[in-house]
Amino acid sequence: MNENIKHKVIVLSGKGGVGKSTVAVNIAVGLALNGLDVGLMDIDIHGPNIPKMLGIDNAKVQSKDGKIIPINYGESLKVISIGFLLPKQDDPIIWRGPLKTNLIRQFIEQTEWGNLDYLIIDSPPGTGDEPLSVIQLFKGLDGAVIVTTPQEVSLLDSRKAINFARALNIPILGIVENMSGFICPNCGTITEIFKSGGGERTAREMNVPFLGKIPIEPNIAMSSDEGRPYIYFYSRMKSSNVFVEIVNKIRDTLEVR
Ligand code: ADP
Repeated sequence: MNENIKHKVIVLSGKGGVGKSTVAVNIAVGLALNGLDVGLMDIDIHGPNIPKMLGIDNAKVQSKDGKIIPINYGESLKVISIGFLLPKQDDPIIWRGPLKTNLIRQFIEQTEWGNLDYLIIDSPPGTGDEPLSVIQLFKGLDGAVIVTTPQEVSLLDSRKAINFARALNIPILGIVENMSGFICPNCGTITEIFKSGGGERTAREMNVPFLGKIPIEPNIAMSSDEGRPYIYFYSRMKSSNVFVEIVNKIRDTLEVR
């Protein structure tokens, strides 16, 4: 099963609101910009924001011969999200465990992914049913990216996410420290709103790679509201390079080039 997908990478966070989906979107788009065939699977069932972040929230998923056809974004990115299947965007999803597992199974086994170099999986925050189901259904994954902010509460939970991946034998590709300081667009002064450096320190302490620090950057928030991925539409901004470096580090770890 799924031998047509070369590298399966899950993006995890201990907490919500730390920028996990933002990082997942920018990694997926960044890989696709390298000419790779990429899938992005949004299993953040209670907050499926990926369609909105890519500006494809009005897309409707079709099926063919009993298989779900993912939505194409550009030439080499295919996207599937529970967000595409909801009747209305504001509808909450009230589902119990087995239904969630069934949906994830469909996204994995009954979706026409074709041949992919990478499948990026955006899971809900925490270490609950959904990432566990994905890992079990795929019988393992090639790597986990852990997203945290520099506050102690987030760092504490990121350690849990690392231990969760470790317990399930998923190699940790590294930690991303998001919302790490704020660079004033007018004067360039750095204000450490949530402090900074904690993700890097946690990476050292937990003996996992550090992938990069992304500052609080109003254009990042704007890009997701506009549905225009930052790494592409804001490629001239300095922080865009951090996403590029993260993509390169993931490739360097997973591909023997
Ligand atoms: P999560 O998936 O962890 O819940 P999101 O990726 O949905 O988090 O991000 C939460 C909000 O924060 C979004 O509005 C997003 O645009 C914004 N955001 C994420 N990272 C940054 C950043 N570095 N600077 C500014 N806003 C950010």
